[in-house]
Amino acid sequence: MATIKYKGEVFSVKVNETVLDTLLNNGIAVKNSCRSGVCQSCVLKAEKGSLTEKSQQGLKDTLKTQGYFLSCMSYPENDLEIVSSTELQIPVTIIDKKMLNSDVLYIKLKYEKDFSFYAGQFINLIRNDGLTRSYSIASLPSEKSIDLHIRILPSGQMSNWLSSNASLGEKLYIEGPIGDCFYSGDKKEQPLLMVGTGTGLAPLYGILCDALGQNHQGEIHLFHGALNFSGLYLIKELFLLAEKYSNFYYYPSVLKNEIEEVNQLNQLNQEVKVGAIDKLVFQTIKKMKGWRAFLCGNPELVYSLKKQLFLAGVSLKEIYADAFLPSAK
Ligand SMILES: Cc1cc2nc3c(=O)[nH]c(=O)nc-3n(C[C@H](O)[C@H](O)[C@H](O)COP(=O)(O)OP(=O)(O)OC[C@H]3O[C@@H](n4cnc5c(N)ncnc54)[C@H](O)[C@@H]3O)c2cc1C
Repeated sequence: MATIKYKGEVFSVKVNETVLDTLLNNGIAVKNSCRSGVCQSCVLKAEKGSLTEKSQQGLKDTLKTQGYFLSCMSYPENDLEIVSSTELQIPVTIIDKKMLNSDVLYIKLKYEKDFSFYAGQFINLIRNDGLTRSYSIASLPSEKSIDLHIRILPSGQMSNWLSSNASLGEKLYIEGPIGDCFYSGDKKEQPLLMVGTGTGLAPLYGILCDALGQNHQGEIHLFHGALNFSGLYLIKELFLLAEKYSNFYYYPSVLKNEIEEVNQLNQLNQEVKVGAIDKLVFQTIKKMKGWRAFLCGNPELVYSLKKQLFLAGVSLKEIYADAFLPSAK
């Protein structure tokens, strides 16, 4: 049976236990969120002992060589001596905060040391007590700050705290950036498809602004879905971009067309599509071979659309997806 040495204490790893399980079961607080190897919030560093390939999957090579690993994916085969990864954390301050609609909070973070990222990647936001959640970056690196769109969940620990308790000037930490969901600028003529529901718009908005700013030549089609009209946001801004750039097409869509919202739709004087977003994508775009796709937000939609796009001829290498997995309980 392998053991873990952490802060002077030694713990035995039980059968089928990960390093994260062992530490949590022994009352050690380790920050974590998705517990499925995606969000990277449970990263720890091994100072002694060898690591399995799976426990380092998805980490940057520079982190792998230094012994960082995902504790939720680590079933140790030998004894490990580990330390926390606080040196990866970057202090940030909330410098702006407002509502984008009744459920979506916008916050702007200023970072206090160098931080390189691409719009569309995600960061882990860490509260002083260690509560950690992943959020996608909606702003460009040239802005020298990080914009987040956060959906407030009725019993959500981080989202509620950010909306009700955190004020301007609040200090937090971030780790990252993580992920490959961003505009690489390598194929300027390639048509781009972007699909997201709810705050899945956050990374897509960042990627869109990056692509337009880098003079992307191919068509860009953005589908943003919500249950009903009040769930959409940045509608005016996106219609303005569609007016300004002839290669950009924006399709706000709702699952239900509520009667009381008809007035709002009329005021907008623009078309809002009604129906399931994946059906709308295929009704609107008939041939997708050769396209690049970005899919973000609701995990079920992301996984199902990924499969449907593949079957429609989009290469898996051209599909970039971030499923917003909830934190594990
Ligand atoms: C790669 C990645 C990127 C992400 N980017 C964003 C982003 O840009 N914006 C954003 O708002 N969120 C994003 N998320 C989700 C985010 O990390 C949190 O899970 C979310 O904000 C809820 O955290 P919380 O602490 O408020 O709620 P919790 O306290 O974790 O959850 C409270 C309750 O809500 C449920 N719940 C959690 N998430 C959801 C959900 N999405 N839908 C329905 N019920 C849920 C939980 O099961 C629980 O019952 C992302 C997640 C990942 C993995």
